Amino acid sequence: MSKNIRWTLARNRAIQTLGKFSIETFPLQLFKLIDKIPHLAIMSYLEMCKQLNEQAYSNNHISVDWVQEHLADGSQDAALLKMSNSKDTIILYNSDLFASGITKQRIRYSIAHEIGHFVLRHNFQTMIARDGLSSSEYIIYEKEADAFAATLLMPSSTFSNEVSVSKLREQYDVSKQAAEIMVDTLTKKPFALPSIRLQNFRLSKPRKYAIPSDPFSLLGFKYYAYCSNCRGLTGGDSPKVFCAYCGCELKAISYEFDFFKIHESFGGQIMKYSEIKVDSSGHADTCPQCGFGVSANDLYCPICGVFLINQCTGIFNADDPFAMPQGRISFELESNSGCGKKLPGYARYCSHCGASSSFALQHLLKSWSQEKKQNLQTAPLDISDDDLPF
Ligand SMILES: [Zn+2]
Ligand SMILES: [Zn+2]
Ligand SMILES: [Zn+2]
Ligand SMILES: [Zn+2]
Repeated sequence: MSKNIRWTLARNRAIQTLGKFSIETFPLQLFKLIDKIPHLAIMSYLEMCKQLNEQAYSNNHISVDWVQEHLADGSQDAALLKMSNSKDTIILYNSDLFASGITKQRIRYSIAHEIGHFVLRHNFQTMIARDGLSSSEYIIYEKEADAFAATLLMPSSTFSNEVSVSKLREQYDVSKQAAEIMVDTLTKKPFALPSIRLQNFRLSKPRKYAIPSDPFSLLGFKYYAYCSNCRGLTGGDSPKVFCAYCGCELKAISYEFDFFKIHESFGGQIMKYSEIKVDSSGHADTCPQCGFGVSANDLYCPICGVFLINQCTGIFNADDPFAMPQGRISFELESNSGCGKKLPGYARYCSHCGASSSFALQHLLKSWSQEKKQNLQTAPLDISDDDLPF
């Protein structure tokens, strides 16, 4: 192999990769790109761990730490795993954003770096091949993969005239460190940019999050599902949930370790729907219809008669024979409380069984389709990273 670092080749390969797989918008959706690259797949340490245990790969239970140690070369962030029995290569990444020092931007960079090793055909034959490389070869590979990663995540032809660290971080979803290195390159080494330029790149909206703020906030759920119909994010207790906004059935993923997957797959698209502030038992402290300050013991508003708890009604649509004219249902009767679930203040539907919520049935919440139309016309809500649990 060559003894020199192939800087230009590495950067140009990154641009060619974006062009070949028709990736035009940034922040780059890494999962979308990897999906399109033949013989390359991606899996978190946790997913790999689950799969190995399901296949009873060993008599012993395999832990996430074992995967990190033995399959990912001990890497905290990501690693490349070449299958010995096929042409396939898997990028393994650490989705545990609660581990110390790990941010989603750092994992993004590491994944882009591993794509670099793959695309540049670095000769890691097996997971332990690194030992077979001389240290100078290893350093060359690392630098080439880094040059590839920086270009892949931040192709300079998309830059505006005024580039700053904070702008790059927001527009490309990269770490402070990666943005600083890019700004440094631009000012001190403008020759160190890819010589190939593609013009069709564009920036999308920065990734922002719309997380409901009430006590049932998504942070308390174990499973999460993104709905492509209404773009809402719904939390639930099992892998099967119903969209809280539009009612359709969804397959949820475990949140605890895979917020990274949600971030990569749907970041920037999640839509926030209006909600009514409720306590942890679904009770509104102010009447959502007339604004009266009700007491915690009131089931119905003493002024306008609205039922004050958001709960499952067991009614699936307005044609349901049990759906009585609005205002005449005795919501407090057990027979009218569906699966019994108390619901968050944004729920139009019960995420557990898909029935209408009592707030939706009383027309206290706007329908999702109406709000989606309005939301798409106005700018996204500004929610900072500080709202996220890491
Ligand atoms: Zn590497
Ligand atoms: Zn939906
Ligand atoms: Zn009222
Ligand atoms: Zn229900």
